[in-house]
Amino acid sequence: PPDVEVLGRATWTFLHTAAAYYPEKPSPNQRANMLMLIRSLPVVYPCAWCAQDFGKCIAHSPPDVSSREKLSLWLCQRHNEVNEKLGKEMFDCAQVDERWKDGPAD
Ligand code: FAD
Repeated sequence: PPDVEVLGRATWTFLHTAAAYYPEKPSPNQRANMLMLIRSLPVVYPCAWCAQDFGKCIAHSPPDVSSREKLSLWLCQRHNEVNEKLGKEMFDCAQVDERWKDGPAD
């Protein structure tokens, strides 16, 4: 079976980076494709219990694909729900661009 930690880090890296570089004003086509990507995770993510919980998570908090900033925040909050479940530290979502887009100031 896949290493759930390595898989998780790689997947969060991909998702947060995709959100960080998502358009400020996405076209209907860009929105639809991002929605499909997110909604397919509960189906294709190769960790069954992770996928199942993530499905519930997006059912109670539907993805906001309306802008780069909204999507980045939405994803940060969902990641924090997983962090909480696993007893990990909460991430400060004000730092999401610094972590995934701009890098540290200076
Ligand atoms: P990760 O949680 O992988 O985070 C990687 C890096 O992202 C961190 O070092 C930090 O710099 C940054 N980061 C942390 N929190 C945030 C945030 N909120 N917003 C932005 N950046 C952040 N594992 C399980 O054991 N059970 C599960 O049910 C489970 N469900 C998962 C569901 C999904 C959709 C995904 C993608 C992963 C899931 N995982 C699950 C894996 C788990 O979330 C971690 O990826 C894994 O435990 C490795 O954790 P880590 O401490 O290395 O950091």
